[in-house]
Formats: sequence, C-alpha cells, structure tokens
Amino acid sequence: MPDLNDDAGCPCLSGETYGACCGRFHAGRAAGGPYPPTAEALMRSRYSAFAVGDVAYLEATWHPRTRPPGLALDGVTWRRLDILAAVAGGPFDTDGVVEFVAHYRSPAGGGRLHEVSRFVRGGGRWFYVDGEQRA
Ligand SMILES: [Zn+2]
Repeated sequence: MPDLNDDAGCPCLSGETYGACCGRFHAGRAAGGPYPPTAEALMRSRYSAFAVGDVAYLEATWHPRTRPPGLALDGVTWRRLDILAAVAGGPFDTDGVVEFVAHYRSPAGGGRLHEVSRFVRGGGRWFYVDGEQRA
C-alpha cells in the first residue's frame, strides 16, 4: 500500500493533494475505480506509484502483453516529473503517447529518465504498453 498521507502534496507535482490527484486512482485499483480518464493522467499516476512504491498499481496498469513478471522497485527516489508532450490519449481515444522526463536519485547519484510512452485504452481504462527512451 502507498505510504503517503492523502493530504500530502502529490508526487506528480500537479499542485493537488495526493488524495485528490493520483491517490484516488491508486485507491481505485482495488475499489473498482475511479480510473485515470486520460493517458496523461495514467502516466502521472504511474509515476506517483513508482514514487510511493505501489507495485500492485504499476502491475494493474501495465498492459498484460508487455507487463514484466515479478516487478520489483529498486530503491530509486523519484524527485520530479515533467510532462513534455501528450498526443491523443483522451477519454474517447483508443491510444495515446506521452513524453516525459522523470528525475530521480539513486545510490549512484542523480539521473533523469526521458521516455516516450505508449498507452492503449480498453474496457474504459488506460494501460501502459511500452516506452522508448531518449537521450
Ligand atoms: Zn498526482
């Protein structure tokens, strides 16, 4: 379970509280919703799930076709998310692309992950498919 108070600032830095932003989607995984309405909202909630260590949410929002078996998080501290671009991925689209930079700190030092992620929508829910890393 995520170890973050609902009143804390959301890790995705939307400016909302965790409970009003990504936290409601994390809680919705087991409660039958709500689910993120857009690919960008799913992207944000997955970033926040990495930040709070919610592996079950990451697995639930990873497309079954590409989901890695036995997902484990590796002690990286996620510091900041910047959404650079979002293409399609709206409530009436069937796929979407989100480009982002996520900043992290690991035992080896700070770093950044720049990725163009692909998402698909099925059964009214968005799923992460895969991503292409950029330099
Ligand atoms: Zn959020």
